[in-house]
Amino acid sequence: MKIVFFGPPGSGKGTQAKLIAAQFKIEHLSTGDILRGKLKDGDSLSKKLKEIMSSGNLVSDKLLNQIVTEKLNSKECVNGFILDGYPRTTHQSDFFLSFLDQKKIQLNYVFDFKIDLSLVKERILFRSQQEKRSDDNLLIIKTRIDKYMNDTYPVSEYFGVKFKKKYFKIDASQEISKIQKELIKTLKNGKK
Ligand code: AMP
Repeated sequence: MKIVFFGPPGSGKGTQAKLIAAQFKIEHLSTGDILRGKLKDGDSLSKKLKEIMSSGNLVSDKLLNQIVTEKLNSKECVNGFILDGYPRTTHQSDFFLSFLDQKKIQLNYVFDFKIDLSLVKERILFRSQQEKRSDDNLLIIKTRIDKYMNDTYPVSEYFGVKFKKKYFKIDASQEISKIQKELIKTLKNGKK
């Protein structure tokens, strides 16, 4: 099963992706988690990444395209994957879609987590206190949400048109367990 999750930061898509990946035994590809893992390396790339990520801005398309294609070509993804946090820009989207074409890979589902942005702000603030994530403070929340609206939202809309029959909107203001049930039901029933 090959799935793409869209949704603003704080929409809970990461939590859902983890649960679904475990249940269906597919790889959870969170580009945010992969990049946070690289921060620990302490090399010059990690310093650059820290600067970009802690400001709420996006890391270069080139690096992200490289990270994701490496993962998708690896054994980890033979049973399928959930992409969580990619593609995030039109450039990443163009690159990703031509990669899929070239490899004759078909996506099975696209889920778009919809949520009121004021609720997102509340959630991100709460998470930043819980997890002590340096990229989640008041000052950069606006940048992250603006980035989502300007760069990623148009990509999610494009996927909605391109993958019409495979595209599902999720009401992300619901409880975690309710969203989980809705996702599983769709994944088991398949069609719209
Ligand atoms: P996330 O955990 O998905 O919110 O990602 C945390 C941070 O990692 C983002 O604010 C970006 O700085 C960076 N990041 C994650 N995924 C991408 C992507 N696909 N393109 C560019 N930057 C990304």
